[in-house]
Amino acid sequence: MVLAATSACLQNTVEYVLWIATALTASELFLQQVRAAHAALGIASDYMQSCALPLCPEPAQLVATELDYYQRPQQLTPAALAAWHGMKQAAARAGVTLFLISAYRSVQCQSELIAKKLQKGQTMQQILSVNAAPGFSEHHTGRALDMGTTDCPALVEEFENTNAFQWLEQNAMAFGFHLSYRRDNAMGIDYEPWHWCFQGQDQQSTQA
Ligand SMILES: [Zn+2]
Repeated sequence: MVLAATSACLQNTVEYVLWIATALTASELFLQQVRAAHAALGIASDYMQSCALPLCPEPAQLVATELDYYQRPQQLTPAALAAWHGMKQAAARAGVTLFLISAYRSVQCQSELIAKKLQKGQTMQQILSVNAAPGFSEHHTGRALDMGTTDCPALVEEFENTNAFQWLEQNAMAFGFHLSYRRDNAMGIDYEPWHWCFQGQDQQSTQA
């Protein structure tokens, strides 16, 4: 019995060490990807140390959502999707329409988005006041959503004047969603009343 218990314990330890090694490898790979993306875009090499935003690793699992406002496929983590659907349905019962504008975005996608803006003549400083650098966007986590409603154009500050925003301010927290970038936030990101992040139980599905 003692031998069997010891063997089981040893196996658990080996599995744990392998799990840690895999997590570290994933973490290092993610950092390498982010550093390469920054170098390709010309983002200063000290950005990662000086950035006020946290690093946002991509999740281990993503699932398809409904099509977004522009009829594009989107993805969220399973828990974020369940919370989003629960919140959207509760809002509908209160007479408030919420719809999805954008959800998961890869590091590659964020890089392409910034590269397009550079090509259009925007400076990196202008771009980084609106978009997080690759690796630092909450959209990488699969838990952040840009939301819209029927009586307001997409992704504009006037969203704060809608019934949808008032409803979110009062109810989103009950579903695990938080407004990420409030006005004059310390992270240096412009105010985004449409951007909410689910901070529920998806931490364990996020790669370290
Ligand atoms: Zn967003």
